[in-house]
This record gives sequence, C-alpha cells and structure tokens, in this order.
Amino acid sequence: MNLAERLAEVDAGIADAARAAGRDPGGITRIVVTKFHPVSIVEELYALGVRDVGENRQQEFSEKAEAVAAHEDLRWHFIGQAQTNKAKAIRAAASVVHSVDRAKIANALDAAGGGDAAALDVLLQVNLTDDPGRGGVAPVDLERLAEHVEGCRTLRLRGVMAVAPLDEAPAEAFARLSGYADRVRAIVPDATWISAGMTADYPEAIDAGATHLRIGSAITGPRPEHG
Ligand SMILES: *Cc1c(COP(=O)(O)O)cnc(C)c1O
Repeated sequence: MNLAERLAEVDAGIADAARAAGRDPGGITRIVVTKFHPVSIVEELYALGVRDVGENRQQEFSEKAEAVAAHEDLRWHFIGQAQTNKAKAIRAAASVVHSVDRAKIANALDAAGGGDAAALDVLLQVNLTDDPGRGGVAPVDLERLAEHVEGCRTLRLRGVMAVAPLDEAPAEAFARLSGYADRVRAIVPDATWISAGMTADYPEAIDAGATHLRIGSAITGPRPEHG
C-alpha cells in the first residue's frame, strides 16, 4: 500500500469506529504523526488533504514547520515532552501543544507568547501509569494544574491528552481518561478536547470519546531507523 491508500484505510477505520460508537466522524480530528520521516512526507500528506500534523521532538518539529511554512493552513501539533528552554521555539510553530504536564512548562509557553494576542491552544497530558517517568501530570494533581493553566493569559486550555499504558487494555485506560476530562471540564467548561488514540488503539480511543487522534505508522508506514 502507498501513503494515499494507508491514509484512506485509516480514515475508513476512523469512520467505522465512530459509527460503531454512535459518534459523528466529523467531530474527530486525525493528526498524522510524521516523526523520523523526512519533510517530503509532510508535503505528500498536504497534497492528500492532510491539515493536521504532529511531532514529538522540538528540533524536528521546528525544522519541518519552517520547511513547509508556505502552507499557512497546515496545523502543527506538538505532542512530545516539552522542555522549558525550548518553549519559545515550540510556541513559534505550534497551533496546539498537547503535552503540558507541569506549571513550569505552562509558564514558559505563556511567557513565550509575549504580547501576542492570539492564545495558544494547550492540552494537559495526564499520566495513565504509575510510573512518573512516563510523562504527564499525575491524576491527583490535575485540578491544580488546570487552574494554573486557566490563569495563564496567553494559553487556552482545551482539554486532556494521554498515551495508553503498555500493560493495560486501552479501553480501560481511556475510560479513566474520560473521567479526567470531565474533571477538567468542571473547571474550564470549553476544555472539551480529548487527545488519545494511536495506530494500535485508535478505535478504543474513539469509543471512549477521543476528539483528536495522533496516528503515525499506520499512515506513514514504519519509521525509518534513527539514532
Ligand atoms: C509517535 C507518537 C504517536 C503515534 O504513534 P503510532 O503508534 O506510530 O501511531 C502518538 N502520540 C505520541 C505522543 C507519539 O510520540
């Protein structure tokens, strides 16, 4: 299968899962994760109509976004661990940052907005495992972080994001995420987005209410070797 065929196959899978869950596929944003692939794949995806792309490492994110900056309607989603000293570069290219997991990174992204009137859409990444090394705010700290981000003038809190644990059925993990999304919405009523679902688990994520899917290899093919 080529890129166009894989994209069509995933989109058909999204439509099927949405129908099975009684949801409108139009309410689901499919982000294509292009990490480790050359920028040429972003151009090919753009030509196929893709307008949402994601990267998890700041340098690759910034380089690719810069290389295709002429496509002004392409939205870049930053989905990786964000470091405070890279906040300015991330903010410069991002439409959405999915991985706000502590007050410090929220503050750095907010400061990087400067006098910019346009708010940056952000999601709170929640850790669905017991391992703090996996990234994401611990559920017990979620409300405090939501209140903090709500107070950041140039950030707009849109919802939550998570990666399913490796050792648990994704449906169970995403059911918990849906409860965390409700807790954030109790603080910020428009924080309605749920970013969840990758190649291996996007049907389960759709069933659990995901609004933003981050799909890489099912569309791009296997990732090239990297160091
Ligand atoms: C790489 C990555 C994805 C996409 O993974 P696939 O399994 O290739 O679909 C999604 N989310 C995050 C945070 C990633 O790093």
